[in-house]
Amino acid sequence: MPLCATLLPLRARTSALRALQPPLSRRVFSSEPHYDEKTVYQYASQQIKPVSIGQLLKYSAPPLTPANILDSVAYTQSELPVRLAKRVISFHNLPFIVGTNPHIARVYNQYYEAFDRLYSFAPIDSIEREQEFSRALERQTQILVDVIPTIAQGFLECKQYMAREERTAFINELIRSRIGLRVIGEQHVALSYQFRERQKPASGEEPGDVWVGAIHTKLSPASMMRQCAQMVQNMCELHYATTPSYYVDGDVDETISYIPSHFEYITCELLKNAFRATVEFSRSQRRLSHPPIQITITKGEGYVGVRIRDQGGGISKENMRNVFEYSWSTMQEDGETSTAGMSLQTNLAMQQGIGGPIAGLGFGLPMARLYAGYFGGSLDIVSMEGYGCDVFLKLRSIEGSVEQKQI
Ligand code: ADP
Ligand code: MG
Repeated sequence: MPLCATLLPLRARTSALRALQPPLSRRVFSSEPHYDEKTVYQYASQQIKPVSIGQLLKYSAPPLTPANILDSVAYTQSELPVRLAKRVISFHNLPFIVGTNPHIARVYNQYYEAFDRLYSFAPIDSIEREQEFSRALERQTQILVDVIPTIAQGFLECKQYMAREERTAFINELIRSRIGLRVIGEQHVALSYQFRERQKPASGEEPGDVWVGAIHTKLSPASMMRQCAQMVQNMCELHYATTPSYYVDGDVDETISYIPSHFEYITCELLKNAFRATVEFSRSQRRLSHPPIQITITKGEGYVGVRIRDQGGGISKENMRNVFEYSWSTMQEDGETSTAGMSLQTNLAMQQGIGGPIAGLGFGLPMARLYAGYFGGSLDIVSMEGYGCDVFLKLRSIEGSVEQKQI
């Protein structure tokens, strides 16, 4: 029984999540026993300070000096607790029953812990203390990595308790703010790491040649697609004991400035869909072999295009209306292959890559579209029912949008 279930009759609606405090792990790690509600609200009431990637990149402009690093940490240290506190508070407004879901409560606790760890750092005034902060930030980023499959599982279980618009708005906001949190956090961690690497004699390749903070300035979409396709092939083997082949063609030498983890997330989700559809359609049609998945890269002015073409039977007109909705999946209908009824642990165990199991959470397309759109790109699907899908992904090079895009 979830911890909170026993508390249900005693608590008011908005205190559903607070009833869980202090988080279990916090009790273990911290000597401070109380959930510090006053401090969370105090931080959450502050305005966030949007920043453009261009401004973040200024901290990493060569030469990388201690002053740059201290400026970067000053912004990071003042900004992240405010953003984290706002997220914590946003969970309080969820319907009571949704807040008591163990997966959602777990994510809530992770946000609270992240806030708790970061806000309690005294202002950083030296490079030595900056390293301490940077390490804590890095650990924090790792802890928050599995937020998406966890929250996806939570909303899958609570779908009926929230109106579609309300759910979509909450998740969109959570994910957008998470992108901002990660970009700011990872950018600082990367900068701090690069600064230290440069202090070492004969450090080999100048990191600034390719990396500017967390942004890879010569990311190869073709390599990324190959890497992700291999990962998805492994997932497919594990799940279906068979997998289609793939090939990459077009402008395979093209590069782009982008955050690799975002590119990877989008790509893995789209490929999981294409591979799954192909295997399941082959089975339903009794095809003797799987048609390969074609991945074509094209070069545009300031962006790259990727088309993923499968022969997985396409999407019906009726389903097409729903595919970009959170927690909507056809996986639940196929009892045999459903992951929806599995525990989160099983789901996560099946997770070999990014974003959870091969299918079933219904987060792949809506999130991939949100990620693609974040830096001015797009994601569209053209389906030929009974044959297959063409998925068109367009990603803008981050260089092109650094000044305008506020995060
Ligand atoms: P999930 O994969 O967890 O079901 P997604 O958001 O990734 O969630 O996709 C939603 C639904 O869209 C899938 O369940 C599937 O029915 C449909 N879909 C997505 N991509 C394809 C594709 N390439 N071919 C056929 N159906 C697809
Ligand atoms: Mg999917």
